Amino acid sequence: MKVIVIGAGVIGVTTAWYLARAGAEVIVIERQPQPALETSFANAGQISPGYSAPWAAPGIPLKALKWLFQRHAPLSLRLDGTLWQWQWMGAMLMNCTQARYIENKSRMLQLAAYSRDCLQSLRDELDLQYEQRAGGTLQVFRSWRQLDAAARDADILARFGIACEILDSAGCAIAEPALSAVRHKLTGGLRLPGDETGDCYLFTTQLADAAAKLGVEFRFNESIRKIHRQAGTFQVKTDHALHVAEHVVVAAGSYSRQLLQPLGIALPVYPVKGYSLTLPIMQRELAPVSTVMDETYKVAITRFDQRIRIGGMAELAGFDLSLRPARRKTLEMVAADLFPQAADLSQGTFWAGLRPMTPDGPPLTGETGIPGLWVNTGHGTLGWTMACGSGRLLADMMTGKQSGIHTGDLGQ
Ligand SMILES: Cc1cc2nc3c(=O)[nH]c(=O)nc-3n(C[C@H](O)[C@H](O)[C@H](O)COP(=O)(O)OP(=O)(O)OC[C@H]3O[C@@H](n4cnc5c(N)ncnc54)[C@H](O)[C@@H]3O)c2cc1C
Repeated sequence: MKVIVIGAGVIGVTTAWYLARAGAEVIVIERQPQPALETSFANAGQISPGYSAPWAAPGIPLKALKWLFQRHAPLSLRLDGTLWQWQWMGAMLMNCTQARYIENKSRMLQLAAYSRDCLQSLRDELDLQYEQRAGGTLQVFRSWRQLDAAARDADILARFGIACEILDSAGCAIAEPALSAVRHKLTGGLRLPGDETGDCYLFTTQLADAAAKLGVEFRFNESIRKIHRQAGTFQVKTDHALHVAEHVVVAAGSYSRQLLQPLGIALPVYPVKGYSLTLPIMQRELAPVSTVMDETYKVAITRFDQRIRIGGMAELAGFDLSLRPARRKTLEMVAADLFPQAADLSQGTFWAGLRPMTPDGPPLTGETGIPGLWVNTGHGTLGWTMACGSGRLLADMMTGKQSGIHTGDLGQ
């Protein structure tokens, strides 16, 4: 079985690895010179099944309206001039009911928990080192209302066997000692002890090396021009060559929709821009030990070996990767507010990426209406968290193996 995988982000690379391990002949085509140079490059570094939830949630429409007028808001909107942007936002609003939220969240939770288990076995099997930590994550709250909502979410987590603890502010300072100095700003937190952290770029590049050793051929610096189906095979034309295979997997992140549109397939995936700032640590004891997620600003602060990364925010603004100074100020503000003096703000590396988001939350992993043409995209805010599980699930579907997860639960 010969497969072309389009895209060498964390989703394309995990898919290629599991396909090759199942015995497929795999070519990965990527326009960048290396794996993981687009959205998978500098994300917030969380492997967080417990935090897997759709953005489309009850109460979000009202909150979103308020955010539009706030300086450090987690969400902002700039019209991109397309009808598609309005359609996507409309579809997202339709998913903000309690019933849809619970259904979408449960699908995401199951995939994410399966994915974390897949990642752990992959890490052990291949001895991957990506500045990983298995210290859990802590979501901190600044209002009582947030804490009450977390208690409701904890019930759903418990239903899916995801360990979690609701903490008061003293408990938050025990889990993350550097928060002691700012305890008075917090009402409490939700700790997810099973969550992990690490650097997604390091993970993806090491897995790509392992995949190459399994026989996967990586074609870097090649951009897809056209996918054409002829007599049961696919011809994939790039700016350099013509590749032929029986199966194609489109894992091109936010660009997957554009690639499939000429074939009459309209994927409901919109690019939702986020930012991160990576800083060298100045005082280790003042830095977080794992990920701390500030629910008010929806910003995560993750500890790597010698660095911290602050990541978050959502801009609905089309395919725009410009680095807006106001966003950097928000990230700096949250870092300085929770972990003052931990890191050197003057030495930051500022970055933006486009999350491939579906309006309901769960990703799109499976075969399109065209036999042999598959997609693995739409992983949104938690693409690394769900990458190994989706990669393995798709490889199992394509090779006719029994999957380790019941796909019916994923709505597929
Ligand atoms: C600020 C921020 C913080 C985040 N934090 C987290 C987190 O803490 N935990 C988590 O799990 N997730 C997080 N995410 C989400 C996660 O990073 C993404 O869901 C994930 O990286 C998407 O991976 P991907 O492989 O689908 O896309 P990408 O990494 O974008 O890969 C797609 C690849 O396809 C290639 N491509 C596209 N078009 C073409 C073409 N025409 N020809 C050839 N190649 C093409 C691109 O070059 C790219 O390399 C975060 C995202 C952002 C922006």
